Amino acid sequence: MSAFEKGRFTLLKRQLAYARANSPYYRRTLRDTDIDSIHDRRGLAALPLTPSDALRKDPRAFLSVGESAAARIATLNTSGTTGDTKRIWFSEADLQRTVDFFILGLSHMVKPGGRAAVFMSGPAPGGLGGLLHKAFAAMGVFPIIHGPVTDIASAVHAADGADLVVGLPAQLNRLCLTAPGLRPGAALLTGDYIPRGIIDNVKSSWGSSVYTHYGLTESGYGLAYQCMAAEAHHLRDGEFIAEIVDPSGGRPLEDGSWGELVITSLMNEAMPLIRYRTGDITRLITAPCACGHARPRLDRIMGRAANIGRKYSIHKLDEAMFRLPGLLDYSASVQEDRLDMIIDSLIKYDDKAVRASLEAEGVHMAALRLEYRGLPVYSGPQKKSVCVHKK
Ligand SMILES: [Zn+2]
Repeated sequence: MSAFEKGRFTLLKRQLAYARANSPYYRRTLRDTDIDSIHDRRGLAALPLTPSDALRKDPRAFLSVGESAAARIATLNTSGTTGDTKRIWFSEADLQRTVDFFILGLSHMVKPGGRAAVFMSGPAPGGLGGLLHKAFAAMGVFPIIHGPVTDIASAVHAADGADLVVGLPAQLNRLCLTAPGLRPGAALLTGDYIPRGIIDNVKSSWGSSVYTHYGLTESGYGLAYQCMAAEAHHLRDGEFIAEIVDPSGGRPLEDGSWGELVITSLMNEAMPLIRYRTGDITRLITAPCACGHARPRLDRIMGRAANIGRKYSIHKLDEAMFRLPGLLDYSASVQEDRLDMIIDSLIKYDDKAVRASLEAEGVHMAALRLEYRGLPVYSGPQKKSVCVHKK
């Protein structure tokens, strides 16, 4: 075992003891755990998984500092059925570690003296935009934290002259197709499933280097980024241990197998998470990166486990639709076996071409109905989804 790996398991033991002492949830689930006997990944894999529902049902049971010591709380994903809300707390030190991670990931995308335009959540301190602002400022980069694109003209103004543009895939797709003259040197896509068609659009329309980042609020926003080799994602592995498990049973899988990503925090103060199920499908790659980095990396994020195998998976639709030339955005709904799509695009397509693109992704439907009209540039913070009407 490498010195790095040994160090991680020392941190893990400390984090487990801290979680058990301070979080009511882990006081219960780790009650009978012999923490000192955990030396490796097999020992970690014997610990219970933390389902994301547990966090939704009782977020306070995970809080491990007094509320006054939690510098920031993020509220997300209100569940439509139960009304439960996920709450994620961060301490000042937790947020600073995120800023440090952002600096590491962003430093090859934009140089000191450059400009960055961020089309993610607003600039409030401790929010995602605020943390990016802090990271850019520390790098000597001038940031404009615009917030999501709600109006193309104001977004074009903010992105004009930027060396790096950061935003949601569908938003940057629309921006690159409607304002091809912006041509930032680099673009960073994050915050939602990233279809290959959007990466291609940004590359060809702007000529930018395109990078992808994966993170979730539960991981302090940041977790894995592409380095200049733009291959698999470098992990924030000094602060989190990543495992891949079988999405149905939760059984640990070998490195290289596709499955659900599970993360364990090593240094969280406000809210330690032990074997937390992210619900996202990816795999660990152990071959060294072209940049020389030799530790395991995260491959492409294939989207939500819940969508895999679903006939009208939003990820399959995204792959099929964003491959169509000039597609700005679309929305989809399903009624029995008829797929209804609203298409917002620069050109009209032959119905057969749309059907062929969908079928190439394995989406076969009895009927397809297309309607062309403008869609809202931004429809809220939720991820893209397919609306299914039940009989
Ligand atoms: Zn690399």
